[in-house]
Amino acid sequence: MPTGVPAQAPSSPEDWSKIFDDLENVVLNGATHWHHPHFFAYFPTGLSYQSIMADILSGGIAGIGFTWKSCPSMTELEMSSLDWVVDLMGLPEHFKNSHDGPGCGIIQSTASDSTMIAIMAARASHVERIKAEPTFMKWVSETGVGKTLKGIFDRVKVNKIDDEASGIIAPYFHDPAVFERFVMYCSDQAHSSVEKGAMLSAVRLRKLKATRGFLGNYGVTNETLQNAIKEDRARGYIPFIFLATVGTTCSCGVDQIDELGPVCVEEGLYLHVDAAYAGTFALCDEFKYLTRGMEHVDSFNFNLHKAGMINFDCSPMFFKNGTHVSRYFNVDAIYLAHEYQSTAADYRHLQVALGRRFRSLKIWFVLRNMGADKIREYLRRTELLAAEFAKLILENGKFEHFVPQHLGLTCFRLKNSTNADNEKLCNAINDDRRIHLVPSTVHGTYFLRMVVCSQLTTLDDVIYGRDVIFEIADRLF
Ligand code: PLP
Repeated sequence: MPTGVPAQAPSSPEDWSKIFDDLENVVLNGATHWHHPHFFAYFPTGLSYQSIMADILSGGIAGIGFTWKSCPSMTELEMSSLDWVVDLMGLPEHFKNSHDGPGCGIIQSTASDSTMIAIMAARASHVERIKAEPTFMKWVSETGVGKTLKGIFDRVKVNKIDDEASGIIAPYFHDPAVFERFVMYCSDQAHSSVEKGAMLSAVRLRKLKATRGFLGNYGVTNETLQNAIKEDRARGYIPFIFLATVGTTCSCGVDQIDELGPVCVEEGLYLHVDAAYAGTFALCDEFKYLTRGMEHVDSFNFNLHKAGMINFDCSPMFFKNGTHVSRYFNVDAIYLAHEYQSTAADYRHLQVALGRRFRSLKIWFVLRNMGADKIREYLRRTELLAAEFAKLILENGKFEHFVPQHLGLTCFRLKNSTNADNEKLCNAINDDRRIHLVPSTVHGTYFLRMVVCSQLTTLDDVIYGRDVIFEIADRLF
């Protein structure tokens, strides 16, 4: 794609008028219009006037809140706004920053980051267990007293210089010699970011076969997880985390947390839930089944920047025991130390990067100026429009659902067809360019995914989408 951007940067300033003249050609003509009412691909990405205002303000404040002291309001507002989210979604109280216990919430950039953090936290926790942490430490880190004294105990177990002559630092909690035989689990329907997280954390990953069950969709069963744990222990591996998905990318299937949670607790596995898309729907009572069993979960993450009407990036992550986890990400540097670190939260200990943006402003502005009911209205409209599309696509008798429509996603394919037929149809639809959608496969079956994404999408747009699909299918088959 020719960008129209000269090879060399200008050495003197250009007028804004000239820059804006180029905007159409260089930027907008080459942009994918995610908020067009006929954009039916991937999953939605959030947008609202209120969160754009918050992003502008965040850019204007231009602070970096890595520690409480580096920008107290950045930390404090994040803590309070996430407590609001816990209440609105009916999540366990122990996820609240204001709760007495060691739980907490933080806004990560993406679901992928949260997955990676969860894997590394679970890995460190198992390393620690294997290295036989004294029991009093465990007790302290799990109580309110422990949370307050976090700063002191942060220093009890740290990376050690194991060889004075070389100065080589050995990671205590991230000791590769200990996690050499670790294995983690996820569904074969989990997002690619889970495989990436496992790869970068240098642990084995076993993808468990999802089967049709809950809502007629794909999820991992208790038996599948239990059998895998048993088999892998017999092989000499050490299972340490199950990474569950609520709302898979391919078909919006659900790993049932209320059933899988007790298995993880019993087997001593860390349980992380990736609910990137579906999680936000739990704002509505009728979708609260998505968060059933959250009391068993060690960490839970979802993207308000998907279905939550908040602009990218805003990915809340809640920990049952954030005090514990923060010890695994703690490195001491004199220039980061401050007088309040034993009593105040330093979010740098729950993420990979040091710097962080003022993301909570987006939640704060959206909830205050728009209100949770407006987001609920959008979520309900999305689901209703998807249900309409699911009916409409069956009307000419040529199509069938691959799985029942769930939330904003309808998966469909031509009846009595091959994968090649459906691929040909999908390519033709996208080449036509009136609507945009993407395909997927589950266990070798190719199908098309239609997601109600834009807040501007109406029933007429959904009918239009159906008509385009019918017209192209009639021409081809
Ligand atoms: N997990 C699931 C289930 C997803 O559907 C997606 C993206 O669609 C992701 C993770 C990745 O999200 P992010 O871009 O926030 O990393």
